[in-house]
Amino acid sequence: MILGSAYSLTQQDWKSVLTSRGVSSNVLPFWIDGLYKNRDLWARHVSPKIIEDLTSVMDFDLPEISQVSEASDGTVKFLIRFKDQMEVETVLIPFHKRFTVCLSTQVGCGMNCSFCYTGTQGLKRNLTAGEIVGQYLVARNYSKHALSPSVVFMGQGEPLHNASEVQKAIEVLNDPALIGVGHRQMTLSTVGYLPGISALKNFPRVNVALSLHSPFEDERSKLIPVNGKYTLKEVVAALDELPLLKRQFITFEYLLIKNFNMSDRHADALKDLLGERAAIMNLIPFNPFPGSEWERPTTEEVEAFKEKLVERKLRVMVRTTKGSDILAACGQLKVNKLARKNGIQ
Ligand code: SAH
Repeated sequence: MILGSAYSLTQQDWKSVLTSRGVSSNVLPFWIDGLYKNRDLWARHVSPKIIEDLTSVMDFDLPEISQVSEASDGTVKFLIRFKDQMEVETVLIPFHKRFTVCLSTQVGCGMNCSFCYTGTQGLKRNLTAGEIVGQYLVARNYSKHALSPSVVFMGQGEPLHNASEVQKAIEVLNDPALIGVGHRQMTLSTVGYLPGISALKNFPRVNVALSLHSPFEDERSKLIPVNGKYTLKEVVAALDELPLLKRQFITFEYLLIKNFNMSDRHADALKDLLGERAAIMNLIPFNPFPGSEWERPTTEEVEAFKEKLVERKLRVMVRTTKGSDILAACGQLKVNKLARKNGIQ
């Protein structure tokens, strides 16, 4: 395997691979359609010698599904295993007659956020573009739905801490000749990893979400340690520099933690921070996990805080929790053999 995973290659990469191996570029569309849609096209349009040559120098296997759990609301959580036996979780979420796939970008995560289950496992390694695209294809094939699922980079890992592979994966997912997920159908969520935010300028124009969680630097650093290094002020300034498409807004995700970040003082500071910006706030009630130190607010408390923001003329949505009965909700993704053994699933 000298050329790596077939699913990490952009159209341009395929062109160079075919040319370098003396294959006519007329083969390109059949080769790509065969790869992503129907392998029969290879047998019909590509000579056996070429097929043998290409399949011997590249890896065409998708990652394996090592476990599937289905929640009562239709959310499906996959445990996905790669060649080196490392595993991540990928979630297929039903949403208004469509599906969204929540993709992981790293095995574990190095950001160590205090409210996040994945963070407790540390960073094991980055995923390659092929492994990120592979998760998508596994989930898409499982859904058997006619429409391509949308993508959120909200699984395990910090996507901008692995920016070059995530960028390549987005290019492959986005290319209509390859997989064809529209750039507006993809959302990348970040803790505000500053070096990666400038890299975003070179990505296809996907939607961007910032995990905000507090408008106050000291409080935010308690939740997201990397805020000590890359402050909210710097991160917001960098986000302001990003080119946005028409009707494209930065989403500010805001975790709701009982007795911590839901006061009038928070609502005022959020208005000061976001009031002038084209922004949407996405409120996410904290999802507890085994051993977590924070508490989830009640539905009434969530509604009351939402009201405070609406009164201040902020645009707000509350994210509904999906898949919580299989620990597939936001922030609950962690490959945890022990928890599974104990029946926590
Ligand atoms: N590293 C990226 C993407 C992964 S997390 C980021 O942090 O943005 C995706 C979303 O889930 C983030 O908004 C994150 O803050 C949220 N999240 C993490 N743990 C959570 C928990 N226990 N309950 C609810 N949301 C959580």
